[in-house]
Formats: sequence, C-alpha cells, structure tokens
Amino acid sequence: MRASQFHIATTKETPADAEIISHQLMLRAGLIRRLASGLYSWMPLGLRVVRKVEHIVREEMNRAGALECLLPAVQPAELWQESGRWEKYGPELLRLHDRHDREFCVGPTHEEVITDIARKELRSYKQLPINLYQIQTKFRDEIRPRFGVMRSREFIMKDAYSFHIDGASLSQTFDDMHTAYCAVFDRIGLDYRPVDADSGSIGGAKSTEFHVLANSGEDGLATSTVSDYAANVEKAAVVCTTTRADATAEQTVIDTPGVHTIDELCKATGANASQCAKTLLVNGVGMNTQEDGSAVDGPKVVALVIRGDHELNDIKAEKHPLVQSPLTFADAKSIRDVANCDAGSIGPIGLSIPVIADQDAANMSDFVVGANENNKHITGVNWARDLPDPEVADLRNAIEGDPSPDGQGNLTIVRGVEVGHIFELGTTYSEALKASVPDESGKNQTLHMGCYGIGITRVVAAAIEQNHDNNGIQWTRSIAPFEVVIVPINAAKSDAVKAASEKLYQELQEQGFDVLLDDRPLRPGVMFADMELIGIPHRVVVSDKLLPDNKLEYRNRRAEESEVIDYADVVARINT
Ligand code: ATP
Ligand code: MG
Repeated sequence: MRASQFHIATTKETPADAEIISHQLMLRAGLIRRLASGLYSWMPLGLRVVRKVEHIVREEMNRAGALECLLPAVQPAELWQESGRWEKYGPELLRLHDRHDREFCVGPTHEEVITDIARKELRSYKQLPINLYQIQTKFRDEIRPRFGVMRSREFIMKDAYSFHIDGASLSQTFDDMHTAYCAVFDRIGLDYRPVDADSGSIGGAKSTEFHVLANSGEDGLATSTVSDYAANVEKAAVVCTTTRADATAEQTVIDTPGVHTIDELCKATGANASQCAKTLLVNGVGMNTQEDGSAVDGPKVVALVIRGDHELNDIKAEKHPLVQSPLTFADAKSIRDVANCDAGSIGPIGLSIPVIADQDAANMSDFVVGANENNKHITGVNWARDLPDPEVADLRNAIEGDPSPDGQGNLTIVRGVEVGHIFELGTTYSEALKASVPDESGKNQTLHMGCYGIGITRVVAAAIEQNHDNNGIQWTRSIAPFEVVIVPINAAKSDAVKAASEKLYQELQEQGFDVLLDDRPLRPGVMFADMELIGIPHRVVVSDKLLPDNKLEYRNRRAEESEVIDYADVVARINT
C-alpha cells in the first residue's frame, strides 16, 4: 500500500474524552472514530488490525474443529421468552419492534438462536459433538460505555457454541477451546492469564476467563504467589484467618455529627477501619414477585455486615438465598422503615431483619457500628453479648495477602482486561428450548452445551494497552496494520532514492510482507512520527546518504536506535 493512496489521519493532541492510553492512541493514530456513545467506526487502518485478529481466531477455531456460520444480528423475542431471558436480561438488551409490531432484539449474544438451530438440525447422537462459531457484531446497551472499543455498545465478538451427548464430551471440547484460546493469544503476542471464573452455583457450571494483564483493566485477578491458582476477584473465595477475641470494652453511644463514611468514622472515634463495621441494607428475595404476581416468601430487606477495611463482593452477596439477585441496595424509605435512620448511621443492633456478616466481620470484637439513630454510633460492640451472633458468609472481595484458596501461598491482586470467556453451560438452554437427540439406545437426551467468546475489537484495544511507548503503538507483527514501512528521504529530488524505494517495495511485497511505502511529500520527521504513532513494527529508510554503498537504515519499533544494514540483509533483518 502506498501511503499517498491510503487514509492516514493522525493527530498530536490527546483527545480530552479518552481516559486510557489505548483509547487515546486509537483515536490519535486514526484507527477508530466515535459516532456516538459506545459506537465507533473502524477506519481503514484500524480495520486491517481487526481483520488480522479475526484471521488468527478463524485459523485456530478451524484447527480445533469448529465450523463457521453466520447468524442474524436481529433476533425474535419469542426465542428469548422461551429461554426466560426476555425478562431477565434487563436494559442491556436493545429491544425493537418491526412494522408489524412484532418484538425483536439486537443480539447481545446468540445462545437462543444457536439452540434453536440445534433443536431443528440435530437428529442423532451421531452428529455430535458439533461446535459452531461466528464472527459478528453484537449490541449491548452498556450502562457505562467507556474506554472506546474496550467497553462499547456495538462490538465484534467471535462466539462459538458446542453441543454434546454428555458432560464428558462437553468437558473435552471445553479443554480444546482452552487450548485454542491460548494459541490465539500467544499468536497475537499478548501477556494473558486464564483465570477461574467458576460460579459454582449454576449446576456445576465451569468457566474460565482469559485476561490481558493491564493496569487499566476493569477486573481484579487474584493469583497465588506460589501455585498457578488464578481467579477473578469476583469469584475468588476468601479463606478466613481471623478468630474472635474476647469482649473487653463496654458499649458506648457517641455523637458523630456529619459522619457518613468509614474514613470519617475512624477520625471521629480513633478506631481503625478494621474495627468499624459497615452495615449495608440490600433488597431481599421478598422483593421479588412470582410469575402469578404473588410475593416470594422471604425478607424484603437484609443487612450485610462487612469490616470497614473490606469491600462487599456483589456476586458473592447475591448468591445468598435471602438476597435478591442482581444485588440492589434498599432505598431511603426502606432504610428508615427498618433502621429508623439514614444510610450513614445503620448498625446491626436491634434489627428485626436477617443479619448476615462476612467471616471476618463476624470475628470482630469491641467494634464500632451505626446506632440506627442519625448522627450516632456505638463503640465497644460485641457479637453474642450485645446482639445475636450473625449468620456468617463469605461476602467480601479477596485482597492482597489473603491465603490462596488452594492452600498454596498468598494472593496477589493484578488488573486484567477480559478478552475471552469459555463456559460449560450444561443443559440450561437445551432444557428451556427442548433441544434433544436420541442416544445410542434410542432414548432422548437433552443436549449438553458450551459457549466460547472472544471480544475481537476489545483484543485490539487490549493489545495496545500492553504494547506502546511515549511515541505511540508498538504492534506485534501478527496484528500490525502493516508489517514494514519504507520511508524514502527526499524522493522528490532524488531519482535514485525513488527507484530504490520502489524496487524494495516490490521485493518486500513479493516476499509476502504487508508493506506500506510512505510516498507522501512530507518531511522525514513527520513521516517518522506518524509511523511510530501508528506502530508499524519495522521501518526501512532509503536515503542518498547510504544508497551509494548499497545500504539502508533499519529500525525496529521497539529498538532504541536505528542501524545501518546491507540492502541484501533487509529481509533477514525484518524476519529476526
Ligand atoms: P464484561 O464482564 O467485560 O462485561 P461479559 O462477561 O459481559 O464481559 P461475555 O458475555 O462473556 O462478556 O462476552 C464475551 C467477550 O466479549 C468478553 O470476554 C469480552 O472480550 C467481549 N465483550 C463483552 N462486552 C463487551 C463490550 N461492551 N465491549 C467490547 N467487548 C465486549
Ligand atoms: Mg458484560
């Protein structure tokens, strides 16, 4: 490709609305353009990267025996009603009506559509296992689209779905997909980590997320200092190491005007955060209504108690049978009804609702709580003496230094960007949509199902988070928009430079490289800066200074310095 015939549109200024480096660089290098919140256009330069990622994903999926298909982006509501997700999915699902007033959605994912295909297409166990995948645009009306294509509303996903006669066959394909995902992320050149995302509660469902390690990542990952244990912090179990000491202090009510946060409470009382209890009122299952409209039998509000220095883990909390899922906090009115005060002064003493304490919170003694009266707290509080022992559960996020749940070493917490997710779904969708086939003995068996996603467009952003410097992107060769750029110096004035550049351009293309010839009539410094920003891995400079000796200047995008090489060595140099 000749730069003069390509659209190169770089900017020096850092866009004000781009918070993370990949978003800034993608805009500055002209890979993407924003259309509206969470909606981005892929410009020709950016699309080249997307296509390369897709190509690697396709090759590895095909190698693993998956078959490519393409499903409609728009899906009929009936299928989602059958699976129960029309109700459950919530506002992330973009719903629409056609001209006949029929309801549809724009697919955020395709379990329903593929299970519908499976129940219609598959007639015998002999057709199993089968793994179908597509690379396609998804839409999720994210509550907070941000970081450009990292969390956008429209994005490209590779999604695969496999069907099996039994769980053993599903496990085999799940492992094969794990291997294929490692091959994909290795080929792209990412520093990634497969982490356990086992939910444990949905019928033994097993899932693994693939995270690209980056400080800007939205997920915390808990990894063992010793073993290969790695789990999303959302899922990492906390091994409790505290024990409850005896009560020594007397209960004392103190005035705490204007105190709303744990920090303020620590200042007002002189206690550490670990001696203060946070009492959070959340909606209980009694807030749910059954299909016939009647109320679910259960508490409307539940109190969760966490140590002041710990964070509530929403996922763990909402798995508790008394807590409504997804987790929502009680509103101001319910708080006043239950605790007689505002949110800043709630405490667990005297509540007539279930009180569930995190393991470490249940081991506190002589601690500080809200007094259930505005502007008052109580110090010197002790379980069993001043209030009943609570129900105990693991409710908090794992933190740095917690013991690793596998008993080996301690946890360190690193940040990650989830780029892939593989899941043993089991029979959830096949049961709901009645997808079954006769087995060897002629007996109908509900299909076992797995699903496997890669966020293609998020991978592009994640790759930049890991591969950049102050001057711009540093693509790994396998996904670079161009592998090599040739920069002729002063070609307008030098026929020799022009001819040598053209010749090199032809030769490198013949060798199979993706080459960009920067034939724009610009100063060398401008061309260099553009190519560094765009991140092309190899740069070859053709100049009158070196040509007479049959030499070129070569620079690897990651190298500190350029070097002078023989013309004859250029291919070998690029290949090392
Ligand atoms: P997240 O927790 O980041 O919202 P998810 O669990 O909703 O992800 P999946 O439903 O497993 O994601 O989708 C598969 C893959 O699609 C994810 O691993 C991620 O790479 C990508 N993905 C999901 N949501 C988005 C988004 N809003 N923008 C870009 N990529 C996304
Ligand atoms: Mg999501």
